[in-house]
Amino acid sequence: MASEVAASRIRSEVDFDKPGRQAGYLRAPLSRNTSGWGTVEIPIVVVKNGRGPTILLTGGVHGDEYEGPIAISRLARSLDPASVQGRVIMIPALNIPAVLNDTRLSPVDGRDLNRCFPGDPRGTFSEMLAHFVDAWILPHVDVSIDLHTAGHSMDAALSTNMHYLPDPDIRQRTLAAAEAFGAPYNVVFWGVDEGATLTSSVERRGILSLGTELGGWGRVNVEGVRIGERGILNILKHFDVLEGRPETIQRDGAAGTRHMMVRDPDCYIFAPAGGLFEPCDLAGAEVYAGDRAGWLHFVEDVDRPPIEVHHRRSGIVWMASGPGRVQRGDVVCVVMNDYDDAAASMQDRS
Ligand SMILES: [Zn+2]
Repeated sequence: MASEVAASRIRSEVDFDKPGRQAGYLRAPLSRNTSGWGTVEIPIVVVKNGRGPTILLTGGVHGDEYEGPIAISRLARSLDPASVQGRVIMIPALNIPAVLNDTRLSPVDGRDLNRCFPGDPRGTFSEMLAHFVDAWILPHVDVSIDLHTAGHSMDAALSTNMHYLPDPDIRQRTLAAAEAFGAPYNVVFWGVDEGATLTSSVERRGILSLGTELGGWGRVNVEGVRIGERGILNILKHFDVLEGRPETIQRDGAAGTRHMMVRDPDCYIFAPAGGLFEPCDLAGAEVYAGDRAGWLHFVEDVDRPPIEVHHRRSGIVWMASGPGRVQRGDVVCVVMNDYDDAAASMQDRS
């Protein structure tokens, strides 16, 4: 490790360079009233054998997203080192305080871990954790797969996702990895406040990055677990860490994933006021510009009519509204369209 890397307060029980299977914890200090020398233990399994790339699988960056932690935990218990060529680093519940609290944000410092990158070793708990991942794990990594869902805030059409990458080589390799993962959709997008995400940290290091949205609405999506488990095995096969060919056949008979993009900011619909949002469509529905996306109800006011909210773009609903009660400015729908490389380059905001 280069000497200029800032020291972390987090200690790893596992040696990333040791062959075979290691299961243990990342030990992060957390002083509290009842335990001045208390630590938070973050489960980690590393399987290393032979020669090949290093794949990082992370789940539980947000604590209320379940499919990734289930899929990665299952793989971490079952992956046979003798079948591996390379190294697989599995962290199924990275943000363990939030996972145990069943919340998106960390109960320790109130932060969204996925808005803390590249982090700070002397910062809050989430900033310290982000720094450890960025500075001490990512330098080992060739491919990062970060499994998310839409948590309690939305419901997602089952998908992998990636940013538009200006370098055509890494863009094509990422699109190919998404095809290998084999979710129903792969979405090229630009989110809100993306620069502080794990994905952006991975990209800044020139590492191949793929995210997922495998459900949401605060429950375990059965099909999302299936796609997630199949997807991470497919990725290991695609990069020749495991033998075999990726299985990408879709429920509807399609041969593989459908590449999509969020074309522009008009694909996002924000609530124009606080209220009860009644959506018209579920994730995956086809919608048309001008159609009603939903109603905002004000049930606390007698006789006050609801506000109609309309789509500004035709396409397929990637993200559908989650909780009924929304605040002004909350995203209540995101629409995606078929991927178009030229249009994507025009929208590049990296
Ligand atoms: Zn998430």
